[in-house]
Amino acid sequence: MNRNYLLPAYLYVGPFKYAIITDNDAINAKQLSINNQFAGCADHDELAIYVKSDMPLAFVQDTLLHELRHCVNHAVGIDGCTELTQEDYISRTNALFLGTLQDNPEVVEFMTLKED
Ligand SMILES: [Zn+2]
Repeated sequence: MNRNYLLPAYLYVGPFKYAIITDNDAINAKQLSINNQFAGCADHDELAIYVKSDMPLAFVQDTLLHELRHCVNHAVGIDGCTELTQEDYISRTNALFLGTLQDNPEVVEFMTLKED
C-alpha cells in the first residue's frame, strides 16, 4: 500500500538535531535547487533530512535509514570516504550508530513498523 507515512519530526545524531522533512513542496524545491531527483537527501549544512513519504513503507524506512547512516558518516568525518575496509568502517561508525538508535526511539519505532 502506498500512502503518506507520518515520520518523526527530528533525528538526533550526536549533538546534531536534523529536521525530517516530508513536505512534497519542500522536497520539490530541494530537488530543483540541487538539480537531482531523490527519494531521500541529507543536508548537513541545514541539518535537514528530506524523505519522500508517499512510497511503500519499506522504501520510506530504507530511505530514512540510508540518510541516518549518511548523517552518522558525516558526524564521524568519513563522508565520501571509499578507502576503509568493512571492518574499519564498522568500527568507526558503530558507536555513534548505536547511540543514534538509542537517542531516537520514535525513529526506531517507525523503522520497525511492518505493513499490515
Ligand atoms: Zn546516499
